[in-house]
Amino acid sequence: MSCDLNLLANKGIRSLHPYQPGKPISELERELGISNIVKLASNENPLGCSHLAIEAMQREMNDIARYPDANGYYLKEAISHKLAIEMEQITLGNGSNDVLNLIARTFAGPGSEVMFSQHAFVVYPIAAKAVEADSVVVPAKNYAHDLEAMGDAITDKTRLIFIANPNNPTGTCENTESLRAFMQRVPENVIVVMDEAYYEYVDDADYPQTINWLNEFNNMIITRTFSKAYGLAGARIGYSISHKDIAGLLNRIREPFNVNSFAMAGATAALKDVDFLQQAVDLNRRGMDYLTAQLDEMGFVYIPSKGNFLTVEVGNNAASIYEKLLHQGVIVRPVANYEMPGHLRVSIGLMEENQRFISALKKVTGR
Ligand SMILES: *Cc1c(COP(=O)(O)O)cnc(C)c1O
Repeated sequence: MSCDLNLLANKGIRSLHPYQPGKPISELERELGISNIVKLASNENPLGCSHLAIEAMQREMNDIARYPDANGYYLKEAISHKLAIEMEQITLGNGSNDVLNLIARTFAGPGSEVMFSQHAFVVYPIAAKAVEADSVVVPAKNYAHDLEAMGDAITDKTRLIFIANPNNPTGTCENTESLRAFMQRVPENVIVVMDEAYYEYVDDADYPQTINWLNEFNNMIITRTFSKAYGLAGARIGYSISHKDIAGLLNRIREPFNVNSFAMAGATAALKDVDFLQQAVDLNRRGMDYLTAQLDEMGFVYIPSKGNFLTVEVGNNAASIYEKLLHQGVIVRPVANYEMPGHLRVSIGLMEENQRFISALKKVTGR
C-alpha cells in the first residue's frame, strides 16, 4: 500500500496555497499563439534596469566559479552609505521575500500569532503558515490597514506584525502620524515589519520615514527591495534594516550564500544610478496620471495608489474580463485571492503599454 505523501509534510505546509505569480509572457504566447504581448501583471519596471547594473553583472560573469561574498560587504557598504545606517543593521536576501521568511522563521512558530491586514501581500500568510504560526487577519478599512483595530488585536501570543506600506495590491499608504501612533502602542516584544517594497515611488510629504525611528523602536524591521523601482526583479535581491541584534539573529538562519554574485554586483551598481531611478519614478507618475484620467473618463472606480500599480474595480465578471484582456495580449493580475474578486490590478508600464491596456479594456468592457 502506498502512503499519502501529503500526510508526511508538516501541518503548516499542508495548509499552504502556493504563491500565484503573474502569467509570464512566454506562457501566454504558447497558449494563445499570439505575439506583441504586454505584461502589466507583476509590478516590474517597464524601463528594465540601470545599464550600470547590467555592466556590473556582465563583469561578474568572469568570476562565476567563485562563491559569492557571503557577507555581501560591498553591497552592504553601499546601502549603509546611502541610507546613513550601520552595515551591521542590514540583512541581505534572495529578494525581500527571502528576508520576510527569515523573519517569520526567527520570531514566529507553533502557538504564536502573526498579524497582518485583510488584502495585504499574500506572502505574509504563506510565511506564517510555513512556520505553523496562527495568522490573525485584521479587517481592512477602505482597503487600507486599520491600525487601530490592529493595535486592539494584539494579544500575548502576537509575535510578529507585517505592514506593507504602500500595500500590494491595494496601493494604499499609511501616514506618519497614524503609523507612529501604532508603533507606540505595540509592545516592545512584538516585532513589526514595515515592508517598503514601493518606497522609491512614494512622493508624499506624509509618508513615514520609518528609517528615522529605528533607534526608538528596537522591535521594528524595514524591508526594501531592488525588484521594483531598481528593475532587478529577476536577479532576486532585497534587504532588511533593523537593530543589529535582529540582523544578527536573521544571519544565523540565513543560507550562507543566499544572495548570488550577479544580484549583489547589479544592486551595488544600481544604487549609484540616481538618474535611472528618477526616470523610473517620473515615468510611473506620468503613467499613473494617464491611467487614472482614462479610468475616470470610462467611469471606473479604482483605489488611489502610491505604488507602481493600480487596482481597478471592474465588477463581478473580473475573471472573465481578465481572460478577455489576455486574448487582447494584455496580462494584468486577478486579485480574487486577496478577497477582491471584483478587482484587477494593473502595473504601470511604458506609455504605449498603458495605452494598450486602456484600449483593450475599452474593447472588452464596451465602456
Ligand atoms: C514585490 C513585493 C515585494 C518584493 O518582493 P521581492 O522578493 O523583493 O522581489 C515585497 N513586498 C511587497 C508588498 C511586494 O509587492
